[in-house]
Amino acid sequence: MNFTLHHHDLPATFKPGKIVAVDCEMMGLDPRRDRLCLVQIKGEKGNAHLVKFDGKKYNAPRLKKILEDKNIQKIFHFGAKDLMFLSIYLDAWVVNYYDTKIASRLARSFSNEHGLDDLASALLGVKISKQQQSTDWGAETLTDAQLEYAAGDVLHLHAIKKKLDVMLKREKRLELAELAFQNILNNAALELGGFDTGRLFLHH
Ligand code: MN
Repeated sequence: MNFTLHHHDLPATFKPGKIVAVDCEMMGLDPRRDRLCLVQIKGEKGNAHLVKFDGKKYNAPRLKKILEDKNIQKIFHFGAKDLMFLSIYLDAWVVNYYDTKIASRLARSFSNEHGLDDLASALLGVKISKQQQSTDWGAETLTDAQLEYAAGDVLHLHAIKKKLDVMLKREKRLELAELAFQNILNNAALELGGFDTGRLFLHH
């Protein structure tokens, strides 16, 4: 087993290090309709930690503190929606954001395949399964298969980021990546403010 399951918040003993990988599982993709069920987080060392929420109580001060700490970088794989769920449910506004999908689109512009499974396979030679993607994350008790799958989503993000950073640096696209990450945060804030960012920046 490569994860530890917790309820409501991280344990006080969790050590994030300087960079954490983060992912969320929800009931669906609409933060005003669907609830946050699980937050997976992995520090630079150690196992993945899974924080399960029962839908009644959302109060995770330890998790919130890490997400809002500007000295700890957060790696997501396409975290645009996750940012909105974390804001609405945990009142946590993520700073120092890194996105492996966006980084891959910038660093690997020769490819159209930027899914987490694509990156794990292309950059690390690791096979990860997307089998449990559509599953009931709201269940009272999650199965071992669900938990393993959820942990798998944060296990390789540090290594993927390392590979992508080498490429971004080589292609002189690190600054563009930084702008793009900021853009994801800005758009999430605008969407939370009720604006459709697809329409907001249209000329007509
Ligand atoms: Mn996931």
